[in-house]
Amino acid sequence: MKIVIAGAGIGGLVAALSLHQAGFRDIAVYERAAELRPLGVGINLLPHAVRELTELGLGDAVAELGVAPSRLSYFNRLGQLIWSEPRGLDAGYAWPQLSVHRGEFQLLLAAEVARRLGPEAIRTGHRLVSVEHGEHSERARFERPDGTAHEVEAELVVGADGIHSALRAQEHPDDGGPVWNGLILWRGTATIPTYLDGRTMIMAGDGEQKFVAYPLAGETAETGMTRVNFIAERRAPEGASELADWNVPIDPAPIVERFAEWRFDWLDVPATIAAADEILEYPMVDREPLPHWRAGSSTLLGDAAHAMYPNGSNGSSQAILDARTLAFHLAGAVRGLGSSAGAVETAAAVRAALDAYEADRRPATAALLAMTRQLGPERVMQLAYERAPEGFADIHDVIPEAELREIADAYKRAAGFHPAALTERASLTPASVEP
Ligand SMILES: Cc1cc2nc3c(=O)[nH]c(=O)nc-3n(C[C@H](O)[C@H](O)[C@H](O)COP(=O)(O)OP(=O)(O)OC[C@H]3O[C@@H](n4cnc5c(N)ncnc54)[C@H](O)[C@@H]3O)c2cc1C
Repeated sequence: MKIVIAGAGIGGLVAALSLHQAGFRDIAVYERAAELRPLGVGINLLPHAVRELTELGLGDAVAELGVAPSRLSYFNRLGQLIWSEPRGLDAGYAWPQLSVHRGEFQLLLAAEVARRLGPEAIRTGHRLVSVEHGEHSERARFERPDGTAHEVEAELVVGADGIHSALRAQEHPDDGGPVWNGLILWRGTATIPTYLDGRTMIMAGDGEQKFVAYPLAGETAETGMTRVNFIAERRAPEGASELADWNVPIDPAPIVERFAEWRFDWLDVPATIAAADEILEYPMVDREPLPHWRAGSSTLLGDAAHAMYPNGSNGSSQAILDARTLAFHLAGAVRGLGSSAGAVETAAAVRAALDAYEADRRPATAALLAMTRQLGPERVMQLAYERAPEGFADIHDVIPEAELREIADAYKRAAGFHPAALTERASLTPASVEP
């Protein structure tokens, strides 16, 4: 059975590895970029995603790339603590949370795809243009950088082609494109004096202006210094138009200025921004939830299906869960087919598997998307601001402990990483189908 995956991002690559683990052998990943380069800055892989990477045999390799945060702590604009909770192993999970560089992680996955599936499995310089749904198979059309076309026939096409997905645009032409909420994000990395315990992810501010930082590595050779990832966020001025894309480098000086007052006794925010190696600017965008992902024997996965705001640090983790769930259902459906199954039965099994995948993942990601629009777990910062804009002596005078805990727990339940639910959930590693 031939499987075509469009997009060699985190979702597409984990899908390739998961389908291969499930026993599928004819898998090709087509990537628009002419070459895979380590783009982006930091991302967080939450325990539910690390469980899946561990079941793919990649837990140690990914852990070596980054840092396992010990805590996540929320502060107001004055640096006063609102809520703090242990994370990963420190919170009693069987799997850590990992902060890694997105590009380094993507290249690790790509190397693993090449090692397990063969060096030809990833075909760069192929942009998906359209997919034609036949009665029993799909025909995917790609365009190469020199303008030549390439067509492939497959029993399954997976659109893992990101927030501007071509397959999504084809199937949902009236969907309206990415939706901007008026916030601008500036992402960067910087080497700064180690703050707190050296492994804490912090968020400070509220719904209008915010600063997030987390270590991406242990202390550097220069003692007392740590490489951190940061995100500074602010509402764009009235009348500003939406920015086009990720990865636009910009001058840090105006951003340093905007955070000039944010000098806490435990972290100097303007100095952190000023120390950035590079700052990338982009709009806070997501996509509307879709009424369906499957069309013929094609489906969507990751940001192509449900791009969401980064609050809650869940984009990559949800793409990984999609990939694992898809492979699980496909293996189950195909295993049930006899060896004499023809094109009709195979197509029916593939479509049933895609429907099962969608039934698991589409409502779950739509609920999470709605929560991220309500700020997700970061709502505690907004509440603290609304109830005590000038700060507080004791946060529990402003937000009761039970309310703080419920906001944190509700998000974990929706995202699939509530500790008890995650530990009890059955594995998504399928019994292998015959190669
Ligand atoms: C360049 C880049 C930098 C990013 N940086 C960050 C970051 O710093 N922090 C963060 O939290 N998230 C970042 N993200 C987003 C994050 O990686 C995703 O939210 C998450 O990993 C889900 O991944 P995905 O595989 O669904 O989509 P993506 O990571 O967007 O991957 C999609 C892949 O498909 C390729 N593609 C696009 N269109 C086509 C097409 N028509 N045909 C074939 N291939 C196509 C893209 O080149 C890309 O490799 C970044 C994404 C990109 C593309």
